[in-house]
Amino acid sequence: MADFEIKDLRASVEGRQILKGVSLAIDKGEVHAVMGPNGSGKSTLSHTLMGHPGYTVDGGSVLLKGQNVLELEPDERARLGMFLAFQYPVVVPGISMANFLRTALNSKRGYDGKDKSKMVTPKEFRGLLKGQLEVLHMDDSFLPRYINDGFSGGEKKRAEILQMAMLKPEIAILDETDSGLDIDSIKFVAEAVNRMRGPELGILIITHYTRVLEFIKPDFVHVLVDGKFVLSGGPEVADRLEKTGYAEWGHAEEEPKEVA
Ligand code: ADP
Ligand code: MG
Repeated sequence: MADFEIKDLRASVEGRQILKGVSLAIDKGEVHAVMGPNGSGKSTLSHTLMGHPGYTVDGGSVLLKGQNVLELEPDERARLGMFLAFQYPVVVPGISMANFLRTALNSKRGYDGKDKSKMVTPKEFRGLLKGQLEVLHMDDSFLPRYINDGFSGGEKKRAEILQMAMLKPEIAILDETDSGLDIDSIKFVAEAVNRMRGPELGILIITHYTRVLEFIKPDFVHVLVDGKFVLSGGPEVADRLEKTGYAEWGHAEEEPKEVA
């Protein structure tokens, strides 16, 4: 039994079946990459795992710490140790990044406004933030700003990774965190993720392109086409995709090339 186990997951969007039986076992300490052409169901997988209400589970199970997380609310999944970095982070007007991060951290620790021993103190919070901001090459001027408001594409993706670094999940899903980033931003993000790698964290890194996998070396690579894994293996699978793209699965137009 792996630490995080997806079994025969089937899910649909707007009445259309997208995930057609996805199984994947992740142990903490491992990095799994899921690669696939556009529209293959990568974000459907990430959203379904995290409990997005727009996605309907048609079957299967997802187990973490003996619980079927599909029965839990998204916030319960987060408290259990799951984290999703969105492909398209949303702007949340009215809530500052600092307030959001502190509240999320308190919530994760079970602070409900009463038991002060569970509360993250302002000093501890600043200390935690400082190191992470440096690694991500972000300055603290964005902390009083509303979540993602006016952030560039690269800043939004880095802000997602900052949340991950603060919340310290056990299973992290990164949905195309690399897409739309210039090479420097990819390196900053990769460095931050690599620092978090370790026996307490399992990572599912979803990507269209092999490039980010040069910086975040995966242990396993799975190819998702039309809602199913068509190939799984070690890092050599990414090398094969680097050369041939998704052509062998009928997606010749999806040759890996970065669109800025
Ligand atoms: P990927 O992330 O691999 O590019 P997605 O999981 O986003 O693929 O999409 C898979 C399929 O599901 C696509 O055909 C897409 O149009 C459809 N889809 C995803 N989300 C929605 C949605 N909210 N409403 C309607 N269709 C959707
Ligand atoms: Mg996607």
